[in-house]
Amino acid sequence: MEEKKQRRHRHTCQGVVDLLCDYLEGDLPSDEETDLGIHMEDCPPCVAFLNTYRKTSQVCRLLSPEDIPPELRERLERFLKESQKKRRG
Ligand SMILES: [Zn+2]
Repeated sequence: MEEKKQRRHRHTCQGVVDLLCDYLEGDLPSDEETDLGIHMEDCPPCVAFLNTYRKTSQVCRLLSPEDIPPELRERLERFLKESQKKRRG
């Protein structure tokens, strides 16, 4: 599966956060969804984050991404940062 390795991530973790609502709602174009999946294969924190977020997915229905309160957004970003820090050791 060399092909998979060579393919570079188009999404950063920040980008994943931005796309999560669309992803959970199934509104993501299939190529975007594929890229997101590729990122997640190599990024356990994002998978954990998605699983957490899934439980609160009603947030997506109530708010557009732009409307997510800065406080919540900050929390999500901190979550990702912390996860990455732990991963790095
Ligand atoms: Zn990630």
